[in-house]
Amino acid sequence: MIDTDGARVWSVPMRTRFRGIDVRDGVLVPGPAGWGEFSPFWDYDVAESRRWWAAAVEAACDGWPAPVRDAVPVNVTVPAVGPERAHAIVAASGCRTAKVKVAEPGQTPADDLARVEAVREALGPSGAIRVDANAAWDVDTAAARIRELDRVGLEYVEQPCASLEELAALRRRVDVRIAADEVVRRSADPLRVDLRGVCDVVVLKVQPLGGVRAALEVAGAHGLPCVVSSALESSVGIAAGVALAAALPELPFACGLATVALLDGDVTSEPLLPVDGALPVRPVTPDRLAEVAAGPEVEARWRARLDAVRG
Ligand SMILES: [Mg+2]
Repeated sequence: MIDTDGARVWSVPMRTRFRGIDVRDGVLVPGPAGWGEFSPFWDYDVAESRRWWAAAVEAACDGWPAPVRDAVPVNVTVPAVGPERAHAIVAASGCRTAKVKVAEPGQTPADDLARVEAVREALGPSGAIRVDANAAWDVDTAAARIRELDRVGLEYVEQPCASLEELAALRRRVDVRIAADEVVRRSADPLRVDLRGVCDVVVLKVQPLGGVRAALEVAGAHGLPCVVSSALESSVGIAAGVALAAALPELPFACGLATVALLDGDVTSEPLLPVDGALPVRPVTPDRLAEVAAGPEVEARWRARLDAVRG
């Protein structure tokens, strides 16, 4: 049984604004198998948040399938920052793959190009660069921007356009691999989204897909190479992502799980941060819950959210 009386609400500032948020918060719940994280973003309604809750229940009550590897290669995540900062983030990370945010509202194509060029310089010719446009472009814009950004050599472009139809049309026009993210995880049924001709890579996120086992089913259903990414969780939630990446039969690309570095604080004194470009597969103990405890107002909002998804 899950113990929601023992639930603990955490809140930490972001080091850099990312995904339009400056503060990340969520709930950890204890259970017989360990701690589970429930941290849907605030723009997710109750119906959509139920899958996030299922992931927390799985972690706390059942634990995860056995790993087939003991470390998971990860990418450094580069927010929509200037080129000097982008270079510094990549150089400091020790990662051989970088995921770069592009198409940020208020920024120009020149900003994106300068950022990926700085990242290429920091990584050197053998590093891999992927970009994420979070569905910002129409097909024509995407085709033009991808051709321009591919001057530095792109591993793939994540969710360049919003719909399945647009992604399929774009994929016929560009040579760079297309990765599907939002179109899978925000769909009513991620198992049955028809990805034929739409993408080359599927991005899996544990909480939005309803847990590690549910995400493994999605991977199996589509039969495409998968990349596991985070939903900007604390190290407790990241451990679930690592468990998924460690359980996938094939893992051809680095995963987007090094995002604890984007948070200015964590629930544990031993955060899941990359060493030599990889995360270890290991348990996480939330021993800093008092230090990152949310204030009473945020606490009340999360308690209400918990009641709503369990109702
Ligand atoms: Mg994405």
